[in-house]
Amino acid sequence: MPYGSAAVAASRGLRLPPLPTIRDLVKLYKLQAIKQMSQNFLMDERLTDKIVKSAGRISDTDIVLEVGPGPGGITRSILRRKPAKVILVEKDRRFLPTLELLQECSQPLGIQMDIHQADILRFPMDKAIPDVSQRLHLIGNLPFAISTRLLINWFKDLSLRQGAFRRNDTTMTLTFQKEVAERICAPLGSEQRCRLSIMSQIWTEPTLKFIIPGKAFVPKPDVDVGVVKFVPLKEPKTDIPFDVVERVNRHIFSMRQKFCRRGYSTLFPEEQRDETTYEMFVEAEVEPTLRPFQLSVDECLRLTEVYWQLIQKNPEIASYDYRGPKAPKEEELVDY
Ligand code: SAM
Repeated sequence: MPYGSAAVAASRGLRLPPLPTIRDLVKLYKLQAIKQMSQNFLMDERLTDKIVKSAGRISDTDIVLEVGPGPGGITRSILRRKPAKVILVEKDRRFLPTLELLQECSQPLGIQMDIHQADILRFPMDKAIPDVSQRLHLIGNLPFAISTRLLINWFKDLSLRQGAFRRNDTTMTLTFQKEVAERICAPLGSEQRCRLSIMSQIWTEPTLKFIIPGKAFVPKPDVDVGVVKFVPLKEPKTDIPFDVVERVNRHIFSMRQKFCRRGYSTLFPEEQRDETTYEMFVEAEVEPTLRPFQLSVDECLRLTEVYWQLIQKNPEIASYDYRGPKAPKEEELVDY
């Protein structure tokens, strides 16, 4: 092998035994993508290697949990990094034979592989990983249909130091629709900044690693895909309960084009809305006429902090539901 190729092979990590290509396996097992499962497969090894490389250094004592391995393209790239253990969580049982094939290959390489046919949204992390002595990497070319929901669940676990986040060095390397990936990482002042940017940046440092063009997937989705790596912050920026943080920021960003006080004010019943909102902004020292995307993470957290103090003294305010039966319809309420 010429020197250049040897160097490339070494940088790619471990050599796997000869295997049919992912494309051949998909054909052989008739694994047509199912739209409801958000199935779009990556066949190009260079791209799957690049995703796994984005996760950073994986040592031979680490565990990698992959969400939705499908036919196993990314799994092969994970195996080449030679972690101690690979945990696969795949909902669609049709992929089990192709994953079991990889399990057979991993044994002689000294890599333990556990395959779970399960829904990641209900997956019992503590049971699958009872011992926290090993570092954990979460990697996945996520199904679009669940990606933001899963991310928010994981941020909650991170805030509570539970599940996959019992250690504070668990990283996540995940794919999203390009626009969602850009929103997650959007800096202060960017028009793309939204609730998801704030939620991501309160608990982690997210970095948009690279974009994969839609045409690299089979079948080709209508959108391009962004790979984001999340590194948990050593010191979380708040210890206010997750649901309170989520609620306040949902309200702040519910009226994106208006002054930030408008969305925030809907946390309070109508009869005290203007007065309480005014007091909260004074106390939090935040300019009420900024647009939501102009708010820093710290400003959002100061607004959360004063709300948190208020509802501890007046718990009835916490149960106020702006979208309840008496509330007027707000056409601008938007989701993430
Ligand atoms: N990792 C493969 C790749 O990159 O080629 C497949 C990625 S495909 C976008 C998403 C995968 O997630 C599919 O294999 C799908 O069956 C699986 N999946 C969908 N919903 C899931 C869930 N709730 N829990 C676990 N896996 C899920």
